[in-house]
Amino acid sequence: MLNLVLFGPPGAGKGTQSEKLINKYELIHISTGDLFRAHIKNQSTLGQRVSALIADGQLVPDEITIAMLEEEVDKNPEAKGFIFDGFPRTVPQAEALDDFLKSKDSAITGVIALDVNQEELTKRIAQRQLETGRVDDQADKLQTRIAEYFDKTIHVLPYYEEQNKLSKVNGIGKIEDIFADLCAQVDKY
Ligand code: AMP
Repeated sequence: MLNLVLFGPPGAGKGTQSEKLINKYELIHISTGDLFRAHIKNQSTLGQRVSALIADGQLVPDEITIAMLEEEVDKNPEAKGFIFDGFPRTVPQAEALDDFLKSKDSAITGVIALDVNQEELTKRIAQRQLETGRVDDQADKLQTRIAEYFDKTIHVLPYYEEQNKLSKVNGIGKIEDIFADLCAQVDKY
């Protein structure tokens, strides 16, 4: 199985590049942010529990997020592999994912971090806010999301670095060029 984590701060291009990668490598894309937004839209019990946190830009508690992620993986028993986008965002999530995959005789193949500077991220998110109207892309909520990223999510990088699974790709430039760099990395696995 080819199990990839696409890692990066809000606006790094994880969603855009995941879509391209799943087509090329025939993987299942699991974006925890997309899953939460679908729950909120459908007004499910889970959606109601998490909507205020997400609107505010805070992370959803690990146990809720991990349970949702595992359920989604289990829906795809025939998958050739997965791209995890927006997950793991905390070290306990990364540990839970390792344990979960191990229980299926599988593992994370590699983690690719998209490298984008703060100025570019702010520009992209302002543009996305105009296009999609995502409430958590508004300037004040975005500050909370960035704070969550530097407080909790950044620690996931050394976790994978210690396992020799981390690589970085420049996330600035043309979408096609970034995609080519990502594919070059994936082809090395
Ligand atoms: P995203 O679309 O990945 O930026 O996610 C949107 C929001 O969903 C985040 O700001 C969090 O509130 C929530 N979320 C998504 N993935 C996770 C995760 N792995 N852990 C906790 N909260 C998450």
